[in-house]
Amino acid sequence: NNIVLEQNSPIVNTGDKLVLFDTGMGSAQGFGPATGRQQKSLKEAGIKPEDVDAVVFSHGHIDHIGGVVDANDKVLFPNAQYYIAESDFDYWTNYDKAGPQLKAFVDQARKNLLPVRDRLVFYKDDQEILPGIHALSAPGHTVGHTIFVISSGGKSFAYTADLTHHPILLMEKPRMEFAYDTDPKQAANSRVKMLDMLAANKIPVLAYHYPWPGVGHIAKTAEGFHYVPEPMQMTL
Ligand SMILES: [Zn+2]
Repeated sequence: NNIVLEQNSPIVNTGDKLVLFDTGMGSAQGFGPATGRQQKSLKEAGIKPEDVDAVVFSHGHIDHIGGVVDANDKVLFPNAQYYIAESDFDYWTNYDKAGPQLKAFVDQARKNLLPVRDRLVFYKDDQEILPGIHALSAPGHTVGHTIFVISSGGKSFAYTADLTHHPILLMEKPRMEFAYDTDPKQAANSRVKMLDMLAANKIPVLAYHYPWPGVGHIAKTAEGFHYVPEPMQMTL
């Protein structure tokens, strides 16, 4: 009951392209009534959905692909190209692969991804998918789960998606296994490898499910890692 599971979607303006990462739950109610606010948040930020050039999915889970279409199946980012790993697209749009217990996930993936099937780009590990945006495969949470390092002017930050779902659990003890991982052992290996890299290079992170805004730094500890949230600046 004490676990906060926010959904923080970074949006990056490369100067040329407006790039949104993940789309939340959309109209699905599986995470409770407080979700599905992405369209409203974009509006409040002065961003028009039709101006979004690229929607990049970290993976095909329900809480990341849910906001492509509205409740009436209207595509909400009409001018965007969509990016995902092919393995994740295949897995989450296929009832046979995901299995009956995850039917709701496949329902949502099909509802949201099939309408933009002809605008999907399948990215590869270590590919610069857009200027300054590198995809780094971090499988285990799902077969094609991917994180992204965004670089500009000599600075970088990483969008870590679902590499860890909680700033203490799965950070302090990164070998802990998470029930919704497709392959929990592989997920733990990816987690340790990527957190090691991010800590060693002092790359700030934005984590999808951390308490808002999910921005901070990672330090290595004897047993795992420690998350240091960036203090909020309420006055700019
Ligand atoms: Zn998630």
